[in-house]
Amino acid sequence: MMIVMRPTATEAEVQAVIDRIEAVGARAHPSRGDEVTVIGAIGDREHVARLELEGAPGVAQVVPILKPYKLSSNQFRAGEPSVVEIDGRRVGGEHFSLIAGPCTVESRDQLMTTAHAVQEAGASLLRGGAYKPRTSPYAFQGLGQEGLRLLAEAKAETGMPIVTECMDARDLEPVLEVADVIQIGARNMQNYPLLAEIGRSGCPVMIKRGLSATLEELLMAAEYVLKEGNPNVLLCERGIRTFETAYRFTLDLMAVPVLKQMTHLPVIVDPSHAAGRRDLVLPLSLAAAAIGADGIIVEVHPNPDEAICDGPQQLYADAFSDYAVQVERAAALAGKALSAA
Ligand code: PEP
Ligand code: MN
Repeated sequence: MMIVMRPTATEAEVQAVIDRIEAVGARAHPSRGDEVTVIGAIGDREHVARLELEGAPGVAQVVPILKPYKLSSNQFRAGEPSVVEIDGRRVGGEHFSLIAGPCTVESRDQLMTTAHAVQEAGASLLRGGAYKPRTSPYAFQGLGQEGLRLLAEAKAETGMPIVTECMDARDLEPVLEVADVIQIGARNMQNYPLLAEIGRSGCPVMIKRGLSATLEELLMAAEYVLKEGNPNVLLCERGIRTFETAYRFTLDLMAVPVLKQMTHLPVIVDPSHAAGRRDLVLPLSLAAAAIGADGIIVEVHPNPDEAICDGPQQLYADAFSDYAVQVERAAALAGKALSAA
């Protein structure tokens, strides 16, 4: 159930509704928008219905949320998009975020060169993996704690917030010391204990769509984080498995406008992992920006030919500013401006 308060509702009236919801064992999730406050009541529908909140002071209406995803549904915020604030940078709404950096942290030199290049070109967040989900257990698995240390250095030097992956709840503590956004990789989208643990941490999280996950399954994954009281969730379309073999994955750009109908959460697109090929990254980025994505996460390396992983898809750091200019123009077509760095 979603309880929509009147624009004139007082804080005491909002609190009274929350108290009544919680008194019957349900959970209240207030969401205070510019115009109205809406309160999601998650729990036994019968118990909440029996409260007859329609007549309560300050309540405008009570709307049942019929979708299985509740807190992430568009209804939950009465159609108003969420804007997630990350260390002063805004993601969502009319803001377009460029998240850029290497696939994996390899060395101080590699990370710092990339960080400076992407920052000067207008990227607002720095990506880089310290823990890497690799198909082969024999492949490089990331620098781990040393990678986190280098990311912390890059943040101290550039001021850029860090997006980095956490694959295992046992690594969460050290990752939280560095990450401004925790990335949940495609292969972990349905790792529910990990999602819940990150939800409890309150740290912003970007959930990547699983290789064969439906949009509803992606939103159910988001629900695990939101349910713990963490509203700072970004979704990421990164390509799905189809019968096509001419490229690595199929970037499902239709997911962007469709997710916008389903959810208030910001939607980021990853053209790098979808394509697996550098030549496709710019056209896919332009299309993603023009179709209304809230941002792009893209891999950049000073010398991709010598990258430890994902070399063929990483953009050259010295060509990144040209790329950023073109993406910014495409985002403007969708009414979005590059979010301030
Ligand atoms: C990544 O972004 O570093 C990554 C491994 O992506 P994905 O989980 O989408 O494969
Ligand atoms: Mn990669």
